[in-house]
Amino acid sequence: MAEEPKETKPGFQNPVAGFGVTFKAMFKKRLTEQYPEQEKTTAPRFHGRHQLNRHPDGLEKCVGCELCAWACPADAIYVEGADNTDEERYSPGERYGRVYQINYARCILCGLCIEACPTRALTMTNEFELADSSRANLIYTKEQLLAGLDEGMVDSPHAIYPGMDEQDYYRGLVTEAAPGTERQTAVSKGEGPQEAASTSGEGEPASEEVVGR
Ligand code: SF4
Ligand code: SF4
Repeated sequence: MAEEPKETKPGFQNPVAGFGVTFKAMFKKRLTEQYPEQEKTTAPRFHGRHQLNRHPDGLEKCVGCELCAWACPADAIYVEGADNTDEERYSPGERYGRVYQINYARCILCGLCIEACPTRALTMTNEFELADSSRANLIYTKEQLLAGLDEGMVDSPHAIYPGMDEQDYYRGLVTEAAPGTERQTAVSKGEGPQEAASTSGEGEPASEEVVGR
């Protein structure tokens, strides 16, 4: 003989039981974040957009060694190094990063590149709003990644601090630009003497061509 189906709740209770779940949820703490109206503070060591750092006198820390590019598992970094000259010096040593690009369409923000950098030229900021609908806009150039100028800095290129060498910079002996330091003309970037004068001590050098792959 077939078993009788078990008696369920009376018909009028079914809709009420369904609303019980909703009713309980109304008194729970809300997990929804009101972004972008309310921005959430990231963890202090959050891996966000990269930054190319400067020495305290404004010269660049990047020496164009490409170690960051080799360390990158996503092949997101493109670097071209070049030699400094006394007339056009971007970093205290022999070489500097002439072209530097990070493709944020590829980058997974893993941080391996900043671990590989021998000069702490490359670090990561807490900035995470990197989304864009254009592939070209996701390739950040050196001008976009280079840190701004703090007090006591003069924009590169400019002469090395008199009497100091590259090692002295890393020992922290240079704390600001030498008195009278002036920005040099960025001839290798197609800059003329007129442009150099107009951007002396502030602003950005001429933009580089995007090589992004
Ligand atoms: S954070 Fe990772 S993926 Fe992004 S550029 Fe650096 S090494 Fe490459
Ligand atoms: S950012 Fe660092 S690792 Fe990358 S090229 Fe410059 S100095 Fe080398």
